[in-house]
Parts: sequence; C-alpha cells; structure tokens
Amino acid sequence: MGGLYAGATMADVLIVEDDEPIRTALTRSLRDHGHIVTSFATGMTALPAIVERRPDVVLLDLGLPDVDGASILSMVRSVSTVPVIVATARDDESEIVRLLELGADDYVIKPFTAAQMNARIRAVLRRAGAVEGEEPIITVGGLTLDVRSREVVLDGVLLELTRKEFDLLMVLARRVGEVVTKKDLLAEVWQMAWGGSDRTVDVHLSWLRRKLGETAKAPKYLHSVRGVGVRLVEPTVA
Ligand code: CA
Repeated sequence: MGGLYAGATMADVLIVEDDEPIRTALTRSLRDHGHIVTSFATGMTALPAIVERRPDVVLLDLGLPDVDGASILSMVRSVSTVPVIVATARDDESEIVRLLELGADDYVIKPFTAAQMNARIRAVLRRAGAVEGEEPIITVGGLTLDVRSREVVLDGVLLELTRKEFDLLMVLARRVGEVVTKKDLLAEVWQMAWGGSDRTVDVHLSWLRRKLGETAKAPKYLHSVRGVGVRLVEPTVA
C-alpha cells in the first residue's frame, strides 16, 4: 500500500450488495478510481471469497436477502481482520454503535455517492496500513507493537488482540506518556467524532488490560486518569 500517498490509491475491493443497479454502478465507479473490484449479491457467497481472496477492504450492505448484515459482519470478524465499511439505510445512532462494536471500521448511510465511498475506502486503508515515514515498530518497556504486521509482543510473548484492541493500543502507544481522552479514542479508533459512548472505550480497555495482565486498580502500562482519559506508560520497576 505504499502508493497510497502518490495519489494512485489502488485497492482490492470486495462488494457485498444485493441491489443489482447499485452493485453495477458502484463496481464501475470504483474501477474508474483504479480499484480492483469483485462483487457478490449474497452474504453466503461473499464469505468464502473474503477468506480466500483476502481483499484490502470489504463494502458490506446490511440489507441482504440471505443473512442479516450484522451476522455476516460477525462471521467476517471471526475469520478475518479485513477492514469492513458497512452501508446501512438506517441513520440510527444505536444501530451504528452496535455495528462499530461488532467490528465495522466505518459506515455510510444510503444513499451515498461513489465519491463518498471512495473517500471512506481511502481513509480506512490509510488507517489499516502503515503510514509512510512512520515508525513501524513501537516499543514501550516490554511491549512491542509492529504497526505493519499488527503484532504485539509482551515480554517475548505474542498477544492475541482483536482489531479494535490493537488500534486502541496503537493510538495510545503513538502518544506514549500522554493522557489521551476517551473522545479522542472514539474519534481515532472508532471514527466517531460525535455521539460515541465512553462505555465502548471502557469495555475495550478492560479487555486490553486483561491481555496485558493488569487491572485498572493495579495498572502497569495503562493508567486511567479519572475524568480525563488514559495514558500508556513504561511500567516502573517495583
Ligand atoms: Ca440491500
């Protein structure tokens, strides 16, 4: 994905959309933007292709004839960390929060334009890939994050983090020592500039803490600052 900033953003895009006119128009338009596009009309035909083809990004319509889009999203997340942009007809905050919590990377409200979708694709790819010139390995104490492979090693042991847990840790690690507000975390990890719930951050933080072998009460790396946010620091030697 080194070409992202050269203006030629090319991605392998997999579309799941049952509405034939939308699918055709979107496919054509994304190809015009230089993407490689594969499309499927049902969730169950798309799922194996997502696993086998390993696209750079998946555009998932939530209103599919065979399986509920949220179920497809969960199934995709159980086998893949591919970025997923969901297209929903419902401009409903609780529904959008639910989708983001299920692991969607971004969303568009129908009807959307191809230009909007292309911008979302670029943004998602930029977040998924290592930004050029950025330090690919971040080390904080016994913790090492590889931004490109998305691997996290703690004291020599590879951790199994979900996509959101990794993103959360990476945002904190890039700003090591700094208190990052929950509002900033919602914006950077969940792309929610407004309306996000602190609870989303709290839940993921608690999962992350468990994997790092610490608790809010006995922190090592992740220190909450009440009413402000959270800070990642190198643990002090006891
Ligand atoms: Ca549909």
